[in-house]
Amino acid sequence: MFLTASKSSAPGASAPEFPEDPPGPPLSNPTASEPLWHAVGVDVVVSGLHSTVTGLDTAEAQRRLDEDGPNELRAARRRSSLRSLWEQLTAVMVLILLGAAALSLVLGKAFEAGAIAVIVVLFVLLGFIQEHRAERAIAALQAMAEPTVQVLRDGLEVTRASSELVRGDVVMLQAGNMVPADARLIDTVGLRVEEAALTGESDPIFKQTAALGVAEPPLGDRTNMVYAGTQVTQGRGRAVVTATGMTTELGQIARMLQGVTTAPTPLQDRLDAVGKQLAVVGVVVAALVMIMGALGGEPVADLLLTAISVAVAVIPEGLPAVVTVTLAIGAQRMLRRNALIRKLPAVETLGSVTVICTDKTGTLTQNRMSAAVLDVAGQTQRLDEPIALPLSSAAALALVAGVLCNDGNGRVDHGGDFSTTGDPTETALLVAAHTAGIDIDALRGAAPRVGELPFDADRKRMSTVHDLGGAATAMLPAAIAGCTAFVKGAVGSLVERTVSVWDGEAPVAVTAEWCDRITRAESALAADGMRVLGLAYRTIDDAGADDFAEDQLTFVGLVGIIDPPRPEVRDAIATCTRAGVRTVMITGDHPSTAKAIADDLGIPTDGGVVTGAEFDALDDAGVDHAVRHRSVFARVSPEHKLRIVKSLENQGQVVAMTGDGVNDAPALKQADIGVAMGITGTDVSKDASDMVLRDDNFASIVAAVEEGRVIYDNLRRFVKFAVAGNIGKIIVMIGWPLPFLLAGDGAAAVALLPLQLLWLNLMTDGLLGLSLGVEPPERGVMDRPPHAPGASMWAGGLGRQAVWIGGLIGGAALGIGLTYEARGHENWQTMMFTSLAFLQVFQALGTRSATESLRTLGFRTNPVMMALIGVVVVLQLAAIMTPLRGFLDLDPLSAFDLGVCVGAGVALLAVLEAHKAWVRSRARHERSDVGMMVAR
Ligand code: ATP
Repeated sequence: MFLTASKSSAPGASAPEFPEDPPGPPLSNPTASEPLWHAVGVDVVVSGLHSTVTGLDTAEAQRRLDEDGPNELRAARRRSSLRSLWEQLTAVMVLILLGAAALSLVLGKAFEAGAIAVIVVLFVLLGFIQEHRAERAIAALQAMAEPTVQVLRDGLEVTRASSELVRGDVVMLQAGNMVPADARLIDTVGLRVEEAALTGESDPIFKQTAALGVAEPPLGDRTNMVYAGTQVTQGRGRAVVTATGMTTELGQIARMLQGVTTAPTPLQDRLDAVGKQLAVVGVVVAALVMIMGALGGEPVADLLLTAISVAVAVIPEGLPAVVTVTLAIGAQRMLRRNALIRKLPAVETLGSVTVICTDKTGTLTQNRMSAAVLDVAGQTQRLDEPIALPLSSAAALALVAGVLCNDGNGRVDHGGDFSTTGDPTETALLVAAHTAGIDIDALRGAAPRVGELPFDADRKRMSTVHDLGGAATAMLPAAIAGCTAFVKGAVGSLVERTVSVWDGEAPVAVTAEWCDRITRAESALAADGMRVLGLAYRTIDDAGADDFAEDQLTFVGLVGIIDPPRPEVRDAIATCTRAGVRTVMITGDHPSTAKAIADDLGIPTDGGVVTGAEFDALDDAGVDHAVRHRSVFARVSPEHKLRIVKSLENQGQVVAMTGDGVNDAPALKQADIGVAMGITGTDVSKDASDMVLRDDNFASIVAAVEEGRVIYDNLRRFVKFAVAGNIGKIIVMIGWPLPFLLAGDGAAAVALLPLQLLWLNLMTDGLLGLSLGVEPPERGVMDRPPHAPGASMWAGGLGRQAVWIGGLIGGAALGIGLTYEARGHENWQTMMFTSLAFLQVFQALGTRSATESLRTLGFRTNPVMMALIGVVVVLQLAAIMTPLRGFLDLDPLSAFDLGVCVGAGVALLAVLEAHKAWVRSRARHERSDVGMMVAR
């Protein structure tokens, strides 16, 4: 009979983050009657789960998926459309407007109340649609960020979304994986799992497969189980899934929201602050209008209504929608350029990045490795030219070592081509061996692997132990037989463990001269930009031992592997330099390899390359100095990355850092923007990142930085546009009664009626403003330094500009109104209303760039704006020429009157263009002054 128990909760676990989360549909995973998986043998576990050690078949897996639901932690339920509509409806602004409508009703102005209600509905709809678009965009990103797992289905290893796992599935685990579900281990090779997320214990735990026989050991002691949310730091394993989704230990204790976070970003917070500042201004202005109106003898009830409308007019209602949409659409634009955003704040932080720290292999280079040179026993053999056969015994030994100590796979397909899968460094060795006539399958069959020490970036080497039987020894010198460990890795890390060198016939004792020769051969290959691997072996007594020492080695030879730089990266680095963004290369490779590639790509190497060993010898001040003045760090381990990021951040830099391995996670978390690799990156690194590169390409980081800048620019444009427009309306509202009051004329009708103000806001902030959020990149967006992180929205003269442009808008509309009134025209109010609308249409055109002329920008580059301008013009004309006129309480306008309103807008555009021309010529002068100073 099975031992049974209730689920335990993990020590050190945090309280649920979303306590209000509903329990969700019942899952059929039994918890009360199931066996204690850790207490019984693998066969019992597998049969208890009605599975096999080779997993489930597809139909059964689907059946279980339908029954149990997806393997997901249910985060706080996504907001329903109704809820988001309710939130729009209960926004303060809308409540104020509804208050105004109610007030109108009380005052007996039913028509006006209805009109305000219509406008409210339009605002709410606009906000709702925008929010819905943004949410859809973010949900799409979330779906793309979902991790995948290797699982056995129908006896074959396939890749599936982690959410498709079911109980009884057999999953393959390897270093770098996040454990996707709770599972009982079937077999392990040096498997270590870090379970801090569950137990708080940050040291990785060794895992094994034997039954524990203890009823309820603490979670951390269940060494034959792995749990969802923990991380495989080393080794490999196979495990059968015992619990998925909310029934996992993680699901029980923490209802974590995973993936893309949607908390407000710092920029959103700052824009919120802008909104609040303007709200205060709105209240003050509303009070002023009330006072002035009261002095002028207006009825208090009417004034109250006007005051409310003024307050509403001053507050940029469009702001929250524009921010959310701009960020979400920005994230989508980044995705099109291969940067998948996992955390929304990254969208804006990218715009202020000042340093990009990048790996070399695969990010700056193509990760298309090919073995070019074999250096054995002092002889050099080119591998990229036809190889003279038969191979020398030393060359054969090196290639055999390269095939056996290798996790890649290669096979000859139907067309006779040799195709490979696995780590490119390793598959390069398989291709070389195949080209030299070695039958990889036969060799591996004859020399089965009986133990291994997997590769890790700190040791920079890996070993595999083989039982060399008769067939295998036929390919090897007679001296190498029995249980043998083959080791491959960074040459330096092998040489220091070497006691002898294979001289072509037999091992000879290593001498200083040999060491020197090996090191020189390595440096020569590295100086050509090659990645260099050393190969060695040792015989061991204890067959199958996983914990043999990687020492007493016999050095066999070195392989130089070419990995060409990505062609687009050179330009991307030049762009970064122009954009005031430093590029720093941090690589595990040899310093000479690093230098050769850096020189090729234009990363500065003057002052030399800093190695990990040199770095270790530095104190904090030394690290700061090195990090400030050097741009290439080689032979470093992931721990160095953390120190480099911290030092850069202490110096006030905004750092993007790439990483792919398990040990890179701390540096990725520390960096302002942690960038994981989509293709070669481990789950753990992706989990720790803010952004994932779908093509592992450095150029995609630079593209994302550019998009980040564009988004920031566009939000500032919107703020400038909206604030200037609102200042214009304030000037009209306050300025209008002044001359009448000063002249002692008594009652002066208010400048614009509440409904007219609301209409204008809908046209401008609501429609025109949105189109500024999709403005394409300004020319030269990557020719200027990054903006300071956390800089005020008003920085760079934006506040000043908003004030003078607002002054012009208000002054022009007011001037037109006063002139018409003075000449006895009845339609002075309609003139102010219409001129304000056209002034803002032309203001939008002039605000598209802070420096570029509209002619240079062209009208086709922002089709959304052109379309929305069309809509606004049509609506505006409809307001004057159709029955809408009565609704808005407007008077007719003649063609001349209309011409005056449009003319005012054109004049404003001319002023804005003249100002930009002046800014451009000032910048040109400054540049030529600097040029002259340099020339002198
Ligand atoms: P980069 O930062 O440039 O992307 P990296 O830090 O990822 O490189 P690693 O993959 O850690 O570099 O490699 C560091 C060194 O380890 C290499 O120079 C090489 O000598 C050795 N090495 C790399 N891959 C393997 C492998 N599969 N087996 C054995 N040794 C390897």
